[in-house]
Amino acid sequence: MNIILLGPPGAGKGTQSANLVEHHGMRQLSTGDMLRAAVKARTPVGIRAKEVMDRGELVSDEIVSALIDAELTAMAPETGAIFDGYPRTEAQAKSLDEILAKHARQLDHVIELEVNEDALVDRITGRFTCAKCGEGYHDRHKLPEQEGVCDKCGSTEFKRRPDDNEDTVRTRMQEYRAKTAPILPLYESRGIVRKVDGMAGIDDVTHAIDAILT
Ligand code: ADP
Ligand code: ADP
Ligand code: ZN
Repeated sequence: MNIILLGPPGAGKGTQSANLVEHHGMRQLSTGDMLRAAVKARTPVGIRAKEVMDRGELVSDEIVSALIDAELTAMAPETGAIFDGYPRTEAQAKSLDEILAKHARQLDHVIELEVNEDALVDRITGRFTCAKCGEGYHDRHKLPEQEGVCDKCGSTEFKRRPDDNEDTVRTRMQEYRAKTAPILPLYESRGIVRKVDGMAGIDDVTHAIDAILT
């Protein structure tokens, strides 16, 4: 099974990927996470990507497609892939077709998380993650059960992304509208788009996605 999770920043792609990894044994391929790792490690790719990401603009198609290709090469062929935050442009969608063909994989579903844009700024500016295990949280919608302690690993250190501020979010939303939303018709014409109400509670969204996959 290979699926794309599509939706604007803050739609819940990372949150839902975590469930799919845990309960369906799939692997999350997040170009955002890969790029942040490259920035942290100060690789040539990371150095080039950092300023673009801080502005909320898109990193070059060649860079992200190469990251995805490398990850798939390293993956066991039977492990399902969740594409989270990729593809984001028509050129990336074309590359993904070629990359999947090369790895003898096919795309089963494009799950579109439909959200109300007004909610996204609230979602993004309230987002934080565990610094140790990466578990995702939210100031209002998903606090750790015990204040200041990660539910998953017990760590007491959390972090916020430098690009999760209101200005950058607006740019990221514009990029989504201008460059990413236009790739939906391509997948619609193939009959593989499944729409999910991303404004529902986190568990309800998870159930809706589980129902598509089973
Ligand atoms: P979000 O989860 O908020 O949608 P991501 O973590 O996916 O954000 O991406 C963070 C940033 O990394 C983007 O704003 C962009 O600069 C860069 N990025 C991630 N994935 C891609 C991609 N597929 N194409 C171009 N840039 C990307
Ligand atoms: P994306 O990966 O699409 O950018 P995230 O999964 O990181 O989005 O979610 C953004 C923020 O919103 C996180 O803080 C997360 O805890 C919260 N969140 C995710 N899904 C929901 C939901 N259905 N309802 C309320 N908050 C949510
Ligand atoms: Zn943790």
